[in-house]
Amino acid sequence: MANINFFGATGTVTGSKYLLEADGKKFLIDCGLFQGLKELRLRNWTDFPVDPASIDAVILTHAHIDHSGYLPKLVQMGFKGSVYATTATADLCAIMLPDSAHLQEEDAKYANRKKFSKHSPALPLYTINDANKALDLFQPLPYGKTTELMPAVTLTYRDAGHILGSAFVDIRVKTDDGERRILFSGDLGRPAQPILRDPHTVFGTDYLILESTYGNRLHGQMDRKTELAKIINDSVKRGGVLIVPSFAVGRTQELLFTIRELEQEQRIPEMTVFVDSPMAINATGVFKKNSQDHDIESKVAELSGIDILKTADLRFTRSSDQSKAINNIKGRAIIISASGMVTGGRILHHLFNRMPNPNNTVLFIGYQAVGTRGRTILEGTETVKIHGQRIPVKAHVEQISGFSAHADYNEILAWLSSFNEAPRKIFIVHGEPSQSRALGERIQSAFNWSYEIPEYLESFELN
Ligand SMILES: [Zn+2]
Repeated sequence: MANINFFGATGTVTGSKYLLEADGKKFLIDCGLFQGLKELRLRNWTDFPVDPASIDAVILTHAHIDHSGYLPKLVQMGFKGSVYATTATADLCAIMLPDSAHLQEEDAKYANRKKFSKHSPALPLYTINDANKALDLFQPLPYGKTTELMPAVTLTYRDAGHILGSAFVDIRVKTDDGERRILFSGDLGRPAQPILRDPHTVFGTDYLILESTYGNRLHGQMDRKTELAKIINDSVKRGGVLIVPSFAVGRTQELLFTIRELEQEQRIPEMTVFVDSPMAINATGVFKKNSQDHDIESKVAELSGIDILKTADLRFTRSSDQSKAINNIKGRAIIISASGMVTGGRILHHLFNRMPNPNNTVLFIGYQAVGTRGRTILEGTETVKIHGQRIPVKAHVEQISGFSAHADYNEILAWLSSFNEAPRKIFIVHGEPSQSRALGERIQSAFNWSYEIPEYLESFELN
């Protein structure tokens, strides 16, 4: 009937790529970049396991680069089919893929300047031109509409509640005895997130490809809104500035939404909020444009005339001069800037200026990977190197974990509990090995369902 090949997100959370072969056609679900460890990143540079020109279509679950960022490379290597995505995912990819290409081009230039590449000249993994060619192949689809990919195969997008535009990919393949349902979770979000609708309730599928980022973890019980209010009020009392390193897409918009609510509920004073990242500003525009995907709570607010992402005094600083001018602000302000893990971007000059002052606060709201400056600051280092200088970390350092966009294991089990019958097989992917194993064991003990943790390049028959 069909078979599935695992080309990424096995034993890792990056490089999501699953090749589904049905009725002689090839569909690649997600086309993500490998990130993190060098051993993984090198896979971005190796030959693709099948000829990219032989793939009929790519089907994206959402826009995050570890799910979409390999697409320009696939196009460079000869892929010419359609790229299916929800409307918002297509809009986000239109800003994220050229940005990713720009970073690839910068990396290559840097390698050439420093002459550390074995290749001379070092070439980028892909270029802005490749990214633009990839964008030409997009075919945006609304949620809930069933599209025929070929006479025996259909595709329907369902809310995943992870980031704007994120979706489960629900594929149906006709068989002699009816049909087989194959569901890809993509990244499974959480219920009651700001702006986004909750993950779609699924009542059953024959095969489930399930993520396991937090297969062995629970998010804290603390209410993130209350935590944020306390941190903002403490910062105001000290007369300092609150600096938030934040991912440009998703996290920044959730933060704006929450600050706006806190202001309206008068739980914090109104103050100037800077969004100092061109990517975050563009992403905020995509969030506003795609109001069809906002949840009921947001829509009710919008119907009463509220701009859900507009705080009382919101400033978008696009130019680098505007960004530098923020340095003159003395207190009672929030600066949201990228990158989220302080690995680069404008957040560097804000931390360079603000961290030596004990009245200021640095707030982390996202995961900080090992080896990043963000992690070092969070672990209580006394100094941190920025722009070649050692900067004393005197500012308060705070963290809120409740802004995670991934379901924890209880939320995953709760989502699975709506299934009316056992799937024929669950493939557990997109997790560190310990997380995937723990989730498998939990599913086994809660439901007694059969699961598989596929390895890189492994394939399975779907009968
Ligand atoms: Zn994601």
